[in-house]
Amino acid sequence: MTFPTIGVIGGGQLARMLAPAAEALGVRFAVLAETADAPAAQVIHDVVVGDYTDFATLKAFAETVDVITFDHEHVPPEHLEALVAAGHAVRPGPQALIFAQDKILMRRRMDELGLPNPRWAEITSVSDAEAFAAEVGLPFILKTPRGGYDGKGVRVISSLDEVGEWLREVPVLLAEEKVDFTRELAVMVGRSPMGQTAVWPVVETWQQDGVCKEAIAPAPGLSGDKAKEITEAVLTVAGALDVTGVMAMEMFETPDGFLINEFAMRPHNTGHWTQDGSVTSQFEQHLRAVLDLPLGSPEAREDVSVMVNILGAEHEDLYQPYLHVMAHDPAVKVHLYGKGVRPGRKVGHVNAYGDDRELVLARARHAADFIAGVDTDPHPRMPEATASAAATPTNLTAPNNPGEGA
Ligand code: ADP
Repeated sequence: MTFPTIGVIGGGQLARMLAPAAEALGVRFAVLAETADAPAAQVIHDVVVGDYTDFATLKAFAETVDVITFDHEHVPPEHLEALVAAGHAVRPGPQALIFAQDKILMRRRMDELGLPNPRWAEITSVSDAEAFAAEVGLPFILKTPRGGYDGKGVRVISSLDEVGEWLREVPVLLAEEKVDFTRELAVMVGRSPMGQTAVWPVVETWQQDGVCKEAIAPAPGLSGDKAKEITEAVLTVAGALDVTGVMAMEMFETPDGFLINEFAMRPHNTGHWTQDGSVTSQFEQHLRAVLDLPLGSPEAREDVSVMVNILGAEHEDLYQPYLHVMAHDPAVKVHLYGKGVRPGRKVGHVNAYGDDRELVLARARHAADFIAGVDTDPHPRMPEATASAAATPTNLTAPNNPGEGA
């Protein structure tokens, strides 16, 4: 036996953040990246630049590694099936991954498993949409079953006129009732091929314009019963679909319980808090799981952990505000992805932790938004009390000019 090599398809920030975990575990780590300057390609030695939609490229990459895993869900399922047929270890396997790739197949499978789904329908004609609107009313949500991310491919339908237009571009759409949720939740599980599982605490998430902006661990005020029900549901899915690696389950919390939104079978934005707030980060766990190593503890290290995304704004230079944030609050953890700034683009995130939730939230929000160059005052969710806390340095006085001599 020897230490294995992992091959990640996709060179984005998730592959980049898997790299330090691979280094610590002592396993070789290779990446098939889209471009030579992709986030992971900047920091990883073993990089192949190639097209993940081309089977010959995938096959050649697979020959050089022991286990294939993913940075994203966009590899064509038929190519993954062919890799498995050729004897390559693909984790998660295509039979599981398809439920993260295709939202209609996922909805059908959740119904079969008796898990809580919003009301939904497959839409191939305007009359399908009319029948669905008659059942759930307007507005409802319409989604492309495949290829969506960060809210791209999700529309609120207020008039049926919009449906016919979209159907001309995408012949099969997924309609869902517009859930009147109290908040969004997410939970992550790691599962290995031998069937060992580990579930992290359920988190509250907040999306801004369809893009994840914040995660709070554990979800404030979540009852023990609801947390248990959610944990059981994610374990049911992981087992029934034979998931390997880490998986995120995103949910809508409702007054009566929760409804499943969707799955990701890879490290996920709602799990970034685990880098600094859990005994085992989602990145380390993903590697342990896909290598069939014993899993690490998913226990939280801190009472409260908060992750806030740094979303690109007008400022292209992040370095000056980044210096300020480090000086202002030396206990926040800044994670940057080496990406160019574009409005709304995820370029990094900040993790903060502690025992006072409002203070931790305010610190993380201030740090993330300050780096992006966004004026956070007033913050859409920041109550008065925390807004003033954010304006006060926590425990260090910033030097007059943190940029000098750095
Ligand atoms: P993506 O795959 O692009 O992340 P999602 O299906 O997660 O898309 O939808 C993005 C966001 O849109 C969700 O986080 C939620 O805020 C909102 N949304 C999606 N589906 C529904 C729904 N059925 N009811 C209400 N809001 C929804």
